[in-house]
Amino acid sequence: MAFEGLADRLQTTIQKIRGKGKVTEADVKEMMREVRLALLEADVNFKVVKQFVKKVSERAVGQEVMKSLTPGQQVIKVVKEELTELMGGEQSKIAVAKRPPTVIMMSGLQGAGKTTTTGKLANLLRKSYNRKPFLIAADIYRPAAIKQLETIGKQLNMPVFSLGDKVSPAEIVRQGIEKAKEEHYDYVLIDTAGRLHIDEELMQELRDIKELADPDEIFLVVDAMTGQDAVNVAENFNDQLDITGVILTKLDGDTRGGAALSIRSVAQKPIKFVGMGEKMDALEPFHPERMASRILGMGDVLTLIEKAQANVDEEKAKEMEHKFRTASFTFDDFLDQLGQVRSMGPLDELIKMMPGANKMKGLDNIQVDEKQIGHVEAIIRSMTKEEKERPDIINASRRRRIAKGSGRTIQEVNRLLKQFEEMKKMLKQMSGMQQKGKKKGFKF
Ligand code: GDP
Repeated sequence: MAFEGLADRLQTTIQKIRGKGKVTEADVKEMMREVRLALLEADVNFKVVKQFVKKVSERAVGQEVMKSLTPGQQVIKVVKEELTELMGGEQSKIAVAKRPPTVIMMSGLQGAGKTTTTGKLANLLRKSYNRKPFLIAADIYRPAAIKQLETIGKQLNMPVFSLGDKVSPAEIVRQGIEKAKEEHYDYVLIDTAGRLHIDEELMQELRDIKELADPDEIFLVVDAMTGQDAVNVAENFNDQLDITGVILTKLDGDTRGGAALSIRSVAQKPIKFVGMGEKMDALEPFHPERMASRILGMGDVLTLIEKAQANVDEEKAKEMEHKFRTASFTFDDFLDQLGQVRSMGPLDELIKMMPGANKMKGLDNIQVDEKQIGHVEAIIRSMTKEEKERPDIINASRRRRIAKGSGRTIQEVNRLLKQFEEMKKMLKQMSGMQQKGKKKGFKF
């Protein structure tokens, strides 16, 4: 599994600092020494590591951490934020042209997975974005390339435009785009030629296609397994072509992760998608934050959702999914969910399912206080129907009443309200991912 070594090392390292009530500069220094080694071992670019360590160290000994009540946790939060930032921060979305079709030019060295990824991306655009893609086979050098794309097109039931290997790539692209326009396709994906190494002839050809097609996206497909080579290729292609994003393939393999962590910083272009296998549905949008979460072992939310889905009936799951998506989730639903969660088995078993939980001291044999859940239920039951549906109306006097009614403190009521709001926010963000939760792939 990708990132395994890095994840293991980082998790062990941050574990040491997690529970600390006081964090000294020496603690931070010690931790950062280990973080640095872990990143270098994962084949992360040397300069990137240096910068990362500097940034995290500065923030970790700064006010925001030292003055907080939970400095250990804060340091980890900083590591996660900076790791997310390193991989691009926000998820980078695919472009949409103001006037269709949106033209996407695929580039990359031979064997990186360019042709396969062209098919996968078209498939994803149709399935998840409801688009109508049109493929152009413009790799006239590799003998089997056109055939390969045609086979993929047939498999996906999608049109593939080709003019054989006697017409220039630029001309194929020109005619292909023309046809896509006539036939009202809204995404055009151009599979271009690759080489074993970067050479001037290839770059000239790609520049010609770029000039003619005026693409909205130029994606570079690189193989994550090639580590720093992938980073160099990305830097090079970017210099020559000014790419708009990177697609990192073969992340299902045994990569140490260096490419995923360095590309954004070195080439200054975001990773937009990642390839997770050879099949046509094995391409996923890249989420820096989820990836950081995964590397730091911060929980497998998707699996928990899957498990929840497996334990409720289809109808109910659909209803919940709708509520999550529209953020119309109420306290009544929350009560309902608590019941469901309980029916999934003992909570301590569920917690163990979280990746990293087994490594966290104290979590390996945690005893969940089921009483605590009873308290939460009591608080919710003390709310009126209206309050359960619209918690924003719960003002100070209502909070007092609820606390009294449930026999809990106002602080507990406040905490629950706050957590509920946060959960709603999180569910809203997650709703897009939820559908895919059943698929194999990233587990966070
Ligand atoms: P191209 O020369 O860049 O067009 O490369 P291809 O599309 O022919 O892919 C080269 C090989 O990599 C093929 O065997 C693909 O099935 C495989 N491949 C592509 N993407 C992935 C991926 O994300 N994961 C895995 N495991 N294999 C992949």
